[in-house]
Amino acid sequence: MQLSFFCSILPVVMKMYADVLVEIRNKHVDKTFTYHIPKTLEEDAEVGKRVLVLFGSQQIEGYILALKNNSDVEAKDLLEILDEEPVLNEEMLELGKFLQEKTLSSLSNCYSAMLPKALKASKKTQIHKKEVLYLSLTEELEEALEKVTSASQKDVLALFENETRVLKTKANKVSASAVNTLIKNGILNLEKEEVYRYQIKNQERESAKVLNEEQQSAKDKIIASLQKSEIFLLHGVTGSGKTEVYLSVIEEVLKLGKEAIVLVPEISLTPQFVGVFSKRFPNDIAVLHSHLSDGEKYDEWRKILKGEVHICIGARSASFAPFTNLGIIIMDEEHSESYKQESSPRYFALDVLKKRSQTHHCPLVLGSATPTLDSMAHAHKKLYTYLPMKKRAQNAVLPECILVDMAEEVKNRHPIISRELECSIIEKLNQNEQIMLLLNRRGHSTTITCSNCGFTYRCPHCEISLTYHKSSKNLRCHYCGYTKYIDEYCPNCHEKSLNYYGLGTEKLEEYLENIFPTARIVRMDRDSTTNKGTLEKITEDFLNHKYDILLGTQMISKGLDFPNVTLMGILDADASLQIPDYKSNERTFALLSQASGRAGRKEKKGMVILQTFQPENYIFQCVKEHSYFKFYKYEMNIRKTLKYPPFYYLVLLTFKSKDYTAVRKEALKAKEFLEQNKDPETILLGPTTANMFLVNGIYHFEILIKYRFDDKLINTIKELDEFVLLNKKVTMDIDFHY
Ligand code: ADP
Ligand code: ZN
Repeated sequence: MQLSFFCSILPVVMKMYADVLVEIRNKHVDKTFTYHIPKTLEEDAEVGKRVLVLFGSQQIEGYILALKNNSDVEAKDLLEILDEEPVLNEEMLELGKFLQEKTLSSLSNCYSAMLPKALKASKKTQIHKKEVLYLSLTEELEEALEKVTSASQKDVLALFENETRVLKTKANKVSASAVNTLIKNGILNLEKEEVYRYQIKNQERESAKVLNEEQQSAKDKIIASLQKSEIFLLHGVTGSGKTEVYLSVIEEVLKLGKEAIVLVPEISLTPQFVGVFSKRFPNDIAVLHSHLSDGEKYDEWRKILKGEVHICIGARSASFAPFTNLGIIIMDEEHSESYKQESSPRYFALDVLKKRSQTHHCPLVLGSATPTLDSMAHAHKKLYTYLPMKKRAQNAVLPECILVDMAEEVKNRHPIISRELECSIIEKLNQNEQIMLLLNRRGHSTTITCSNCGFTYRCPHCEISLTYHKSSKNLRCHYCGYTKYIDEYCPNCHEKSLNYYGLGTEKLEEYLENIFPTARIVRMDRDSTTNKGTLEKITEDFLNHKYDILLGTQMISKGLDFPNVTLMGILDADASLQIPDYKSNERTFALLSQASGRAGRKEKKGMVILQTFQPENYIFQCVKEHSYFKFYKYEMNIRKTLKYPPFYYLVLLTFKSKDYTAVRKEALKAKEFLEQNKDPETILLGPTTANMFLVNGIYHFEILIKYRFDDKLINTIKELDEFVLLNKKVTMDIDFHY
């Protein structure tokens, strides 16, 4: 009693002023400014909504971060409030600040990364409304049918047999005039309603599989911690049935009325994968991935915001799915590099998910056949709970893996497909089984050189040779997108003597068509799947055995489940080892293990043929033996010796400018500043020119910082960014690694 009395005399907070974070891509303006809220907008003003304000003479967007009664400064009026409901709730507002600290990028940049693109003012993506027909409230279908005599009206009403709502456009196809009459006579009601642009294909509902022992044990452990922010590492070999574990855990979470996020790398976010979920949880899923249009993504996001679905499946950005009552967070293929954003804010989805798991007191499950060294090290230290699944579901065995020495094959004039692989392909074709071939390089030929004068086509903006794309008959730079028409004659000596070297997926396709003329062959890479729906079509057709051979880039290495595939050929296993990066061993091992995992997933035993010029390489031996731990031990040793993660943290500073002298000077200045302010144990490397020194006409210099305990480092970098480097021509990217 007394309490409520007390409450009622508390002063009502007047919403006179708003602190607005303006959306300007300039770190020096990354703070809030106070605006006065005009009387007319007072009621609508809420924290987390987007607003339009005058900044200088410019109209720009911003977010309301706080409301207050008074202001020390003279404030301009807010111009407009853009949202009916806040787009950032309290958790998201906090999460943005957390990201800002983690990535040292601007707060407004962080918020905009968290929201769907459609919410940017420049893109006027509207909510889609369509006219929808209902039977009038009092009408039962039978009653309605009795009232009408015309056949076409009866046909329109027949649409309501299985549906309660029917799109007017659909009914009009039966008979537009009948529809109008039905509306006029009050039998049908017409309403304008929001319709979602994206629909998961309706599929038959599927019930849960009986879990095997390993799956059950994993599930039980996760379920036992459903109210805790515990992190699990689900280390299951390829085909061990991790997805089934996710599904069964989600089922329990839904029973509690809670929600689930399932993060999947972009390339494994296939219709097949989404289908598995939607068959189990029909109409309860939002999907967020880059194949959707901005409008579709916006709709999916709002399904979550409005609480219409409980599950979100999506790529990296789905970590920001605006759920308010999370019960489980799953990160499938947790080793995937797509979980790190490579533009500002350069965040790790894992950091976001850990934070959300703490906020919501719910478990986070990291699943992989090849966990990152970092995750496995966490599991070793018991910071993550380790859940192994060593066997394939349904007792399928892991495929046999053969290493073929390509040096021998080149001598025997089999430089593309080794004799061993060729024989195996023929054998599988004869047995009516399917084959996958991995070549992680798209295009036709990777180098075009003149045999007369030695001329090579290079990108004029970058430092690399251009790739020939036969299907589009042009040369392309895979870094900056520069394209060039190709002539029959050398542009330098004008002789007809151009040679096409290097193997890409297009050339491989041609080659295969020549040596296996009766085989049905299909290619999957970024070029063959640009049109909407093609990826789905290729997957479905291959699954239905309309093709015998599927060749492709790493797009084919993950997530796909084709029971009839018994042979996986890996054509250029060495390629990813040659990339100069401390992670290239880890990346190669994961790619090849994942790819191997596509073969022999059901009753039929699988086989993998791995073509390499270095068959004795330890990484390939580990792949051959399916021995993650052998690889783990080996690689951890290297990382320790060379002071790389997970023993050291890394920050890569990249200095960029069109002006070579300026960028070099700033990089040296930065080095000096860091040298003076760092912890003695912290290691500085560089400045050196980056691997890709010149991209799109911009010069790149790098400084690599390796550190373990350096409390001041973050502040030092912030200072460097804000006060030390003031040359407007040079920008500095800050990129944390672990
Ligand atoms: P992973 O993601 O671990 O590579 P999947 O989840 O794709 O493996 O499962 C591999 C195959 O085994 C799938 O076809 C799946 O339907 C099947 N499967 C998984 N668990 C079971 C089970 N308990 N009983 C029967 N089949 C299963
Ligand atoms: Zn280029």
